[in-house]
Amino acid sequence: MKNYNKQIFAGMLLATISGCQNQPNDTQVTQTELSSNDIISQKLVNQALSSTLGYDIVESLTVEVGPRLAGSEKDLIAVEWAMSKLNSLGFDKVYKESVQVPAWSRGHAKASIISPFEQPLVISALGGSVATPESGIQATIIRFDTLAALQAADPALVKGKIAFIDHKTERHISGKGYGQSVGGRSRGAVAAAEKGAVAVVIRSIGTDHDRMAHTGMMRYKDGIKKIPAAALSAPDADMINLMLKRDKDITLSLNLSSKNLGVATSYNVIAEVTGSSKPDEVVLIGAHLDSWDEGTGAIDDGAGVGIVTAAAKLIQDLPQKPARTIRVVLYAAEEVGIVGAKSYAKQHADELGLHYIAAESDFGAGEIYQIDFNVNPNVFEQVKTEHSSMTINGVTLGNNKATGGPDVSMMPSLGVPVASLRQDGTDYFDYHHTPNDTLDKIDPTALAQNVAAYAQFAYIMAQSELNLRPLAKKTDKQ
Ligand SMILES: [Zn+2]
Repeated sequence: MKNYNKQIFAGMLLATISGCQNQPNDTQVTQTELSSNDIISQKLVNQALSSTLGYDIVESLTVEVGPRLAGSEKDLIAVEWAMSKLNSLGFDKVYKESVQVPAWSRGHAKASIISPFEQPLVISALGGSVATPESGIQATIIRFDTLAALQAADPALVKGKIAFIDHKTERHISGKGYGQSVGGRSRGAVAAAEKGAVAVVIRSIGTDHDRMAHTGMMRYKDGIKKIPAAALSAPDADMINLMLKRDKDITLSLNLSSKNLGVATSYNVIAEVTGSSKPDEVVLIGAHLDSWDEGTGAIDDGAGVGIVTAAAKLIQDLPQKPARTIRVVLYAAEEVGIVGAKSYAKQHADELGLHYIAAESDFGAGEIYQIDFNVNPNVFEQVKTEHSSMTINGVTLGNNKATGGPDVSMMPSLGVPVASLRQDGTDYFDYHHTPNDTLDKIDPTALAQNVAAYAQFAYIMAQSELNLRPLAKKTDKQ
């Protein structure tokens, strides 16, 4: 990120704010034009950019806990870590709320081409997959460009085979390529089983070319046979394509020992900075505490945990607390179906009317380049003006079509306004859900820029006098 010069902040902020008012008359721009909220917002940026707290939190989580699959022993160690970390930071309140989560163990995952060109493959079982029989499954591959192509296929061609969904994920700053390809991972097993396939393998939902597969959640459907599901590394998917050019009849051997272990108890871990004059009203900033089991859960979502916790800590340490309560929610079991967030929405149903706005950081540690909102359209321009000071931290004021991040994605339908602080996700899907999701992928300077943006957003919203409700009836999905 740019190396911001703190000494020119005030000048930059004044220019920004006067620019927003379309009155570029420099002689009228004086220090007094800054509201006290702007001054504190600017101070929060200075403090965030000169602090390593966000990074220190991710380092602590990835080193002292590491992988923390929902429902596992490590998941509970992560909960204890979070309780202890949040308490040590001196928040006004720290508590946890139990959540029932699905538990699953990965076991081993092996695959190889057994004919005509014998070769081992690099794969990863998809989360929630059933095992193969102990002797594995040996069957011919049938390849599809996309999930839709599999869904449209003649069942006679698929029956008894291993369906291979070969959808490539496009690289994009917003990560939108993931949304286009991920259906093959989550719904491929059901689509393949409906056509009579004995297993499904997918090209990893990722943008890298490393010989490493990307795991992630898949789902079954009642009444449809549960077949094993795994992801291939991109180079292995490429190799299968080259084999298919030479011979249409390729036999794959697949052996998984994954197990669904029923239901386990986990926890949403929550910390609060109590509001000074409207303590019952909540500005929620969240991230998820669980991770996949193959990396150390640094970018997904240790980064988010560090960002929102450090942002709230900056506000906790202000001499004068903002009007509303800032609530940090470290959600349980996001990866296995947004389970902690759904449970939070239920447990707090009576209180959602007092949730002023919510946002989640769950897209790695790349710099934030834009903030979008989903608020009452009548106040949207005023909301943007209130956030003018975020532009000095490199954040553009965006649109009113935010969805807010996975763990708060259900909030707009429950009437709660949301914001999306959009991060540069150009390389996010190189590492996402792989053994390569480790601390070294996080740039501490970019992480601090995120902390600054979340601190500004949370503070400004905790002080705002605007009525953000009701939301527009239909929100455009992005
Ligand atoms: Zn995540």
